[in-house]
Amino acid sequence: MAAIDPSHCAKCGACTVACPVFQASDGRESLSARGRLHLLEKLDPAQASSAYAEILSQCLLCGACRSVCSRGLDPPARFIAARKQLEKTAGRQVLLRAITRKALSNPALLATITSLGRPLLEFLPADSGLRLRLGLPQERPDTSCSSSEKTPQEHSGRPALAFFPGCYATHLHREIGEATERITMRFTGKPTLRPKHQCCCGLAAESAGDIATAKRLAKQNILAFAGNSLPILTSCASCYSQLHRYPELLADDPVWQKKAQGFADRLLEFSTFVVQGMLTDPAFRFAGSAEPRTVVYHDPCHLRFHAKITDPPREILRAIPGLNLAELPNGPQCCGQGGLFHLAQPELAEKIRGRLLTQLEQAAPALVTTTCSGCLIHIQEGLGHAPSRPEVRHLSVLLAELL
Ligand code: SF4
Ligand code: SF4
Repeated sequence: MAAIDPSHCAKCGACTVACPVFQASDGRESLSARGRLHLLEKLDPAQASSAYAEILSQCLLCGACRSVCSRGLDPPARFIAARKQLEKTAGRQVLLRAITRKALSNPALLATITSLGRPLLEFLPADSGLRLRLGLPQERPDTSCSSSEKTPQEHSGRPALAFFPGCYATHLHREIGEATERITMRFTGKPTLRPKHQCCCGLAAESAGDIATAKRLAKQNILAFAGNSLPILTSCASCYSQLHRYPELLADDPVWQKKAQGFADRLLEFSTFVVQGMLTDPAFRFAGSAEPRTVVYHDPCHLRFHAKITDPPREILRAIPGLNLAELPNGPQCCGQGGLFHLAQPELAEKIRGRLLTQLEQAAPALVTTTCSGCLIHIQEGLGHAPSRPEVRHLSVLLAELL
């Protein structure tokens, strides 16, 4: 989809009600989709002042505005295009340094980086979105391919699905990938294939306006999965959303756009896969929770607004004996993580997360579950280590424990 002309905005304000940043900034007009589109109509981002660049970086790219826009506009696509122009103005390294500087001034994030230590720095591929998200320098040579992939030869039986775990489940929270593979095995009776040479989905790069890197990563992933025609399962909501964007990202090249469309048509989101499995095997039941527990499902914005997948995770949780699915008093809320947003805008991210935590406190669940690794870590970090805090689990980890 081509980026929109900002003058098409009707200035109706419907997006302001949905925008987490507008709400968290107590209604600052320049931080709504309407306000940013107005600025883009009047001022060329290639001539951006630092204040203008700051306003453009204060967007989560969550897509809430797009979902309610009376004109059917896609403001986040326009903001990504503007960030690309900013990159030309400020230079990529300047932007990355600014993000890193902000990350290092965030004590909670610094603690995370310190606890991960040098082994992670050595281990993470140069182009992993995790480097950007954690504020780690991109100083290693490009070894962005996954080198720990499993091939079908290491398993018995032909694989039923190809698996795209994403950076978090590959490098940081391997239990998410392993849990997803256990669930896949339960429903298909077959192993999953993790094709070699898959890499970061490119969401972090594209969010930072680095479209060239995002395109390169997209092409690398398309090629990595080209050796088979299996459905491509992913257990991370943000990765799923970004992988779906490949045809749009590569729209300026007809040959790659066609390949990207073929790739996107094969994508299978984790909770949708589980619901399909449950329907195919009506006798299947997840084991019940040992004691009755209230659970809240956190909707990642990338599934809620981009892919519009909100029912399947709830269907699964309702089917588990002993779990009582509750909704937040004001309905689903953004957690404020937003890929690079929580690094570049820690104060705003904290405020947005604070609104979610207040809602969670009112719902008082024993368990919070989600399908986005970024949301998962951001919510865990916000809840801290208080003994009364709810457990926070990725849906695949929770379900694997109940197989
Ligand atoms: S993408 Fe989200 S944060 Fe950005 S303007 Fe739209 S609603 Fe606001
Ligand atoms: S909802 Fe759409 S048309 Fe209305 S102000 Fe927001 S971006 Fe403009």
